[in-house]
Amino acid sequence: MPFSSDNQAGLILKAAGLKRTTVRIGVLRLLSTTDKPMAAAQITRALGTATDHVTVYRTLSTLTARNMLHRIRGDDRVWRYALTRKTDPAQSKHTQSTHAHFVCQLCGSVECLRDLPLSTRVLDHFTPRKSYRINYSEVVVHGLCPQCNTDRHSTGIRIDHHNG
Ligand SMILES: [Zn+2]
Ligand SMILES: [Zn+2]
Repeated sequence: MPFSSDNQAGLILKAAGLKRTTVRIGVLRLLSTTDKPMAAAQITRALGTATDHVTVYRTLSTLTARNMLHRIRGDDRVWRYALTRKTDPAQSKHTQSTHAHFVCQLCGSVECLRDLPLSTRVLDHFTPRKSYRINYSEVVVHGLCPQCNTDRHSTGIRIDHHNG
């Protein structure tokens, strides 16, 4: 559900102990409208003249450090950012679950698969040996997105170059 007002995004920042800045509110509201993680450059473009890319990068790293955002890389190795919890990112951590991500092999689009939650406990089994320290893990599935899959059926596999 998108954050319907600046106030709602502001309350979430306040709950996380962060100052309410225009850019932080803008980033939270923008990302609450989509399940496709966005690259910093896209976010800067979408926020328009209100900000610049340095501020956007700084904001993304602050919100990611607080686990309000998470990031995922596409086939182009560019980081994309998404809300960790779409309803209330500031909710307590003990209900935290993570989800798989999808990367389209044809158009390169990246999606959060929120309907495929992964228990963080599952990931505990992946600790290889005591001497390793695992900071995070991710599950990424690759294939054709609904759009590319439809195109493939109607016109055969296309290798058009899609730009964002
Ligand atoms: Zn696709
Ligand atoms: Zn995600």
